[in-house]
Amino acid sequence: MIRLAVISGKGGTGKTMITAALAQLLPGSIVLADCDVDAANLELLLNPKQIRPEPFMGMKSAVIDPAICTGCGECEMHCRFDAVHPEGGAYRVNPIRCEGCAVCVQVCPAAAVTMQPRQTGEVMYSQTERGHLVHARLVPGAGNSGLLVHAVKKMAMEQDKDCNLFLIDGPPGTGCPLISTISGVDMVLIVTEPSVSGLHDLKRVVAVCRQFRPRILVVINRFDLEPSLTETIEMWCCEEKIPIIGKIPFDPAVIESVRKGVPVTSAGTSPATQAIQILKTNLEQELMHYNNKR
Ligand code: SF4
Ligand code: SF4
Repeated sequence: MIRLAVISGKGGTGKTMITAALAQLLPGSIVLADCDVDAANLELLLNPKQIRPEPFMGMKSAVIDPAICTGCGECEMHCRFDAVHPEGGAYRVNPIRCEGCAVCVQVCPAAAVTMQPRQTGEVMYSQTERGHLVHARLVPGAGNSGLLVHAVKKMAMEQDKDCNLFLIDGPPGTGCPLISTISGVDMVLIVTEPSVSGLHDLKRVVAVCRQFRPRILVVINRFDLEPSLTETIEMWCCEEKIPIIGKIPFDPAVIESVRKGVPVTSAGTSPATQAIQILKTNLEQELMHYNNKR
């Protein structure tokens, strides 16, 4: 199995649209994971049938037993996250603000505080026309998205050990969810766009990826909107020896396909579809080359 993550330095580059189209076009058995857990939307394009949801327990958070609490206020005084407040003679923890540091457990003279597991999301195992999809839903305001990404990847890999390709729709940015996504992958396909912030974010995400040593590939989406910046990105990638394996033009068919909730490659021939076909062919060669080297 080759593990490939489609990622981007910033949101809104078309990463999920490209992942869905590649899932549809690439041959062989595939398992999909949507690791963009803060804004999971691969399912909106692949219309999966849900098979099994599982609760996701994030970090523990503090719970005060009002029957034991004497109302001394020590916990409120020591909580650096402003998560504890008085309520009806006792004190209560706001689970959304609680960061799980357990300081309140240490300072409570009445032993009224315990750390308890809290469900902060759901991991779902679903079926699409192109294979299984593991995706997740985070409770609004819950943190731990890096841990949830890890849970999504683990479930996907355990369920489909024998498939050819593990295709991940990764999160944007360079934070904890990205690091959790790219750890252990063989290849990353970075989606960028010709803008000053696009190039800046591309450089940042490449710097993070290099610490994990996957094969790094780039695709430029909407490349024709700013030809001079596209050229700058091409020159920078050439200097850094990073192959650009696709350039996708701006195409209203993409917006229309997102509106319909299907991959753009389902919607007949269009300039974007043709460019994604070329991207798929180049990616297939990369995957074959990678396989032969192992
Ligand atoms: S420190 Fe313990 S006893 Fe004091 S208010 Fe907090 S929970 Fe209640
Ligand atoms: S565990 Fe830490 S963050 Fe949570 S309520 Fe206690 S002191 Fe505050």
